[in-house]
Order: sequence, then C-alpha cells, then structure tokens
Amino acid sequence: MKDSLGDIPVDVYRKHLHELADWMADYRENIAKQRISPTAKPGAIISALPSTPPETAEPLEQIFADVDRLIVPGVAHWAHPQFMGYFGCTTTGPGVFAEMIAAALNINAMTWRTSPVATELETVVLNWLRQWLGLPDEFGGAVYDTASIGSMHALAVAREEAGVSVRTQGLSGRAELPIFRVYVSDQAHSSIDKAAIALGLGEHNVRKIPSDAEFRMNVAALREAISADLRKEFRPLAVVATVGTTSTASVDPVREIAAVCAEHQMWLHIDAAYGGGLAVVPECNWVTDGFDLADSIVINPHKMLFVPFDFSVLYVREIERLRRVFTLVPEYLRGDAAGAEINYMDYGIQLGRRFRAIKAWMVWRTFGREGLAARIREHLRLAQLFTTWVKQDAHFELSAPTVMGVACFRFKAANDAESDRRNSQLVETINAGGEAYLMQTKLRGRAVMRLGLGNILTTEEHLGRVWKIIRDAI
Ligand code: PLP
Repeated sequence: MKDSLGDIPVDVYRKHLHELADWMADYRENIAKQRISPTAKPGAIISALPSTPPETAEPLEQIFADVDRLIVPGVAHWAHPQFMGYFGCTTTGPGVFAEMIAAALNINAMTWRTSPVATELETVVLNWLRQWLGLPDEFGGAVYDTASIGSMHALAVAREEAGVSVRTQGLSGRAELPIFRVYVSDQAHSSIDKAAIALGLGEHNVRKIPSDAEFRMNVAALREAISADLRKEFRPLAVVATVGTTSTASVDPVREIAAVCAEHQMWLHIDAAYGGGLAVVPECNWVTDGFDLADSIVINPHKMLFVPFDFSVLYVREIERLRRVFTLVPEYLRGDAAGAEINYMDYGIQLGRRFRAIKAWMVWRTFGREGLAARIREHLRLAQLFTTWVKQDAHFELSAPTVMGVACFRFKAANDAESDRRNSQLVETINAGGEAYLMQTKLRGRAVMRLGLGNILTTEEHLGRVWKIIRDAI
C-alpha cells in the first residue's frame, strides 16, 4: 500500500468486507454475552492510543485487531437486551444494512441534484411517517440528526414569525426588541433551553411551568405565567408541549395547551421525540391527540421506531414557513436550485446532509407498520409487567404512572435523604456490575430509578433478570 496511490485495492476491500460481515453478525449473535458498561476509567482509552497522528501507513489487519483490542472494550453496549438506560435506540439488521449502503454510496443530500434519490426518498419516508402520525397534508417535514436541532429550528421560525426580522437584522443593538418567553413544563427536555441559548432568546426566558401529580403540564399554571409575563410586558412566543417526557414519558395536555396558544397567538411546538412513535400502535392513537393543532412537531424515529441513530424529523404546518427562514443559495449552488425540486439544504442550518432516509425506508419496510406496532406493544406490556413487580415488592414504590415503555421507581428507606442516597447508589452499583443498565433521575426533588424499554431484543426473560439484579443489589 505504501507505494500506491488511491484507495485500498478492491480485492482487499472485498476480503475485509466479508470478514467484517462475519464480525458484525458475531457481535449481534453474542451481544447478550457482552459486559454492558465498560470498566475503563476516564482518560484510559486516550492514554492507550498514540497521541501523535499516524505518519506512515499501517496494515489493515493491525487496525482491525485494534478494533477488538481497544475499541470494543470502550463501548457501552446499547444493543444489549439488558441495556435499559435512556430511551432505547435499538440496533436492527435492516438498520445496519442501510448504514452500510449509505456508507458505500457516501452521498450528500444537500440539494436534489447532489443525489436525487436522497431527496426523494427523504420526501417519501417523511410522507409515510406523517401518515402514521395522522397529520394533515399541510404538514411538511425535514430530517435532521436530533430533536435538539429540530426544536431549535422550530423556535427559530416562531421567532421570525413574531415579526422582528431577526433573519435579516439580527438581535444585537436592537433596544426595540421585546423579551420573548417560551413555556415548557418542569419535565421538558433540556434541548429547549439549549435552543433558547442558541437563538438568543436566553435560557432565563424559558419558563418552567409546574407539572401535575402525573407530571403533565398544569395548564392553569401556564395561563397564570402568561398573564404575569404580559403584565410585565414580556412577549409570550411559544409553548413546547412534551409527548413522552424524558423522565417518566408523561404526556402534556396538548389540546388544552393549543387553546392557550390560539388565544395568545403563540407558536405551539410539540416535542414528541420519544412518544410520537406510539402513533403506529392503533390502540395508542390517543398519543397524537391535538397534533393537528400544532405549528411544529419533532419526533425521533431513532427512539421508538427502530431506526438507528441518528434520525429525527421536524414537521411544520406549511413547511414553507421553515424554508423562508433558512433558504439561502450560495452562488456555487445556484445551478442546483434553479427548478421546482426540493433542496433540503433550504430547511435548516446544515448544508451537507447524510443520506439518512435509506435507514427509515429499509427498517420500516422490513417490519411494516404492523411489525413495528407489535414490537412496541410488547415493550409496553413489559413496562406494565415490571410495574406490577415493583408494586408487589414492599421494598420499592412506583414513582410515576407507567404510560409508555418507561418505569420510574424508588427503593424505600428510613427517610427521604437516605432513600435518595440509596437509589443513586443502587443505579451506580447495578450499572457497574455490567449485566444491566438503568438510569437515575429526579422527580419532585427525589432520586428515583428509571428503566426504559425499547431494545428490539429485550424479552420478558431479560426483564426478569434485570429485576433480579435490582433486588439482589438492595
Ligand atoms: N426531547 C425529549 C423528550 C428527549 O427525551 C430527548 C432526549 O432523550 C430529546 C428531546 C433530545 O433528543 P436528541 O438527542 O435527539 O436531541
């Protein structure tokens, strides 16, 4: 290789691809035997790797050997069926195939012309998902990497539509600008605060509205906060309702919130990053109640809908509103943007875009809506089963209603402070054991344990093992 230019020879490429295919299938087959959380201390991986860049070519055999020696031991195995942290972001065969095809093609989905299929397939899968969500035709979408980015773009449109021409005038030096307020529940995801930081709205202007006993936004408190802000001449801009909150998967009363938004001409953004996926299960279509009243909705198919990370969708009622804020055609792309085609670069900050649509296309075709629904239904059943186990065990109490594939529970100790300490410690101990992975969160100021289902490989047997690990740890 040292003496030749160009890529590695195609026969070498083929040989390693075959070997890699076996490696990947072995990894999948043996995933449940892996230790979930790595044992490495922070910095250990950095110190095991050379600090200077490779000056000369190294043999691929050596590099692949290092994948086993250095890379895999540093992985937290999200694909393990007893990994129940965060929201499941599951591995699937078709998802991996699609990632491989996207890597082989390595195209850029910035304009239609840069690869027509990337744009058109994106339009197709956005339309499929829109139908599953039961959204009217007037909603159009764009695929981004994450919900954080989607929500930021949605709030950028809300800000622009408030008539202050930030796109052209910016924010600085403008004493005439009002102070905008964005309202979320105290359970909302931190991505909304980040969006406010990025958009110059200011973190302090994201008002946290108290949630009710079931962790849903209290709409009376929302009304009071808006009235109080209006008295102080703040300008209510948007409400972000969450459908499937991060800690408990609770669902804000979207329809009532929509009525408040309509009264005050505020933008309604729905963060359905996790919960939106439930829409493919017919008996759970309550989850999309009020979606048709939103200005924008974000959903992460990489959370509940089995598409591998990353794949997030933003829908905006009349997508032209999003385009207006972000379209900007540099001279060198003028020829790419001369016709009636869609150019997804117009719908966000990012110019270059990965060919993400192929993942959704392959995964959703492989399972079909029925298959997706059956798997989600099983996760919901397991979450309810786990809830029953918790309720029947005198050492534990349930900390929130189980509404989706998430259960929050707490080990009971002599007093709250002791219980906080024990619950945090239990999660640390369980995760350090390497056979299960949970999370801790805080609800009403108290530490609780949180178990999230969503991995396509998780069965009742795995859940039973995790429950035993939890009970053995107390
Ligand atoms: N919204 C909710 C409700 C979430 O739980 C999360 C992350 O888990 C996000 C938004 C942010 O998602 P992303 O990592 O795609 O930005």
